[in-house]
Amino acid sequence: MRPRFEKDYQYLLADLIPRHLLSSDRTESILDALTGGNHSKMVKEAFLAMEELITLGEFKRDDPVQDDDRVVLSYIRKDGKARYSLEIAKSEWDLIHRTEEVKGPDFASSVFAGIISSLTLDESAGTLNDRVEDLLTMVEPFSPESKAYLIIFEDSSSFGLRDSETVRLVPWTKLKNKAFYRQSVTSRRIHTLVKSSDISPGSSIFEIGHSTGFVVQIPLFDEDSAVGILQIHISSGKHPDNNNLFNCYLLGQSIVKLLENNRHLEEMVSIDRLTDTYNRNFYETQLPLEMERASRTRKSLGFLIMDIDDFKRFNDDYGHDTGDKVLSTVAATVRNHLRKIDLFFRYGGEEFVALLPGAGREAAERTAERIREVIAKTEMPLENASSTRITLSIGGCVYPQDADNEKELFRKADRMLLEAKQLGKNRIRFYKGEDEK
Ligand code: GH3
Ligand code: MG
Ligand code: MG
Repeated sequence: MRPRFEKDYQYLLADLIPRHLLSSDRTESILDALTGGNHSKMVKEAFLAMEELITLGEFKRDDPVQDDDRVVLSYIRKDGKARYSLEIAKSEWDLIHRTEEVKGPDFASSVFAGIISSLTLDESAGTLNDRVEDLLTMVEPFSPESKAYLIIFEDSSSFGLRDSETVRLVPWTKLKNKAFYRQSVTSRRIHTLVKSSDISPGSSIFEIGHSTGFVVQIPLFDEDSAVGILQIHISSGKHPDNNNLFNCYLLGQSIVKLLENNRHLEEMVSIDRLTDTYNRNFYETQLPLEMERASRTRKSLGFLIMDIDDFKRFNDDYGHDTGDKVLSTVAATVRNHLRKIDLFFRYGGEEFVALLPGAGREAAERTAERIREVIAKTEMPLENASSTRITLSIGGCVYPQDADNEKELFRKADRMLLEAKQLGKNRIRFYKGEDEK
């Protein structure tokens, strides 16, 4: 359609433009224009909305076609199925243009500089936290004391990220009780702008200083799932312009990409290809972190070592390739019987370790017994469409009750594994303290 008259613009703004994709600001001024009913304002809003849809990749536009008294802008939806042309009188066009000059090139270029530096992979780029924190400082040119903070929902993209002054890992279940955060994530707007005076005390995780005039929230999505929120404190009472708000959105997108890429990289070096479980390398880095987390939250960490029984003979009887297949079947079966928060590693050959956060002795022992049982019952496919069964032995102990360091934890569980083997295999043994043994 080509709107020319007031009612055309009304129709475009009220019914045609996919408002749900637009920022909260944009939507608000559209509603303003619709209720105010001023033709020039509606033309301007239509133009700004369509331009925002271009930056979102929803529409494309040809170069403006100008003649003596009007400018025509043709927009095509990304699927090619809708086309809107705005016909704007020259006098209105000049007005729109003059007020919407790009105002914040400094912020934009700093965001891009940040994105580029965050892509660097050499040592000088520092840890993932360093790189994320560098990106967060990119909002400084926005206004001198503006500050950006990042909340990442724990167990989503938190892979490799730690708490710091500007970064916080918080479970979404805890955050969604706060209306301040819930709205920003569930509305799915690309940004939400809140006046600091409208924020009730205690609703923000990060302290909102006296100099903060506005807070911008950018919900972060990886594909379709919410992974966090970028929270920007703007130290000025002046309403930020759209370019800068959009740059905030870009900054959020770069952080999501950075975390995503980092996760892929980490996975590449942390996964054992044969069994598709974490490898020993990752075990070494995760065990101390899980122990630290357990101490911090005053919970136990169950520790299991499993070893397939008589696997050498299995290989001799059925061949190494069949052995490989069985290894991956065992790994997949065990994983299926662990919780999502448990970590499962191939420690070496046919030995595996499971870390069970929050599991005390009783829970860990129950898990171990369930795993032993299910493996003993599982048919392992062989070459000629037949199948056989194998068993495994498991040794276990619990942090911090049985050991206060990594080596000791492993040593105790391993000793229990040895006992399980000596007692006849296909069984579990748990550390019960020195005197009971
Ligand atoms: P036990 O019941 O005492 O554990 O006896 P075992 O034969 O399982 O123990 P041992 O540790 O002596 O032997 C482990 C065997 O596991 C040796 C090797 O043939 C086999 N193995 C280790 N890694 C792989 C692998 O990646 N693929 C296959 N097919 N076999 C493996
Ligand atoms: Mg072994
Ligand atoms: Mg073995």
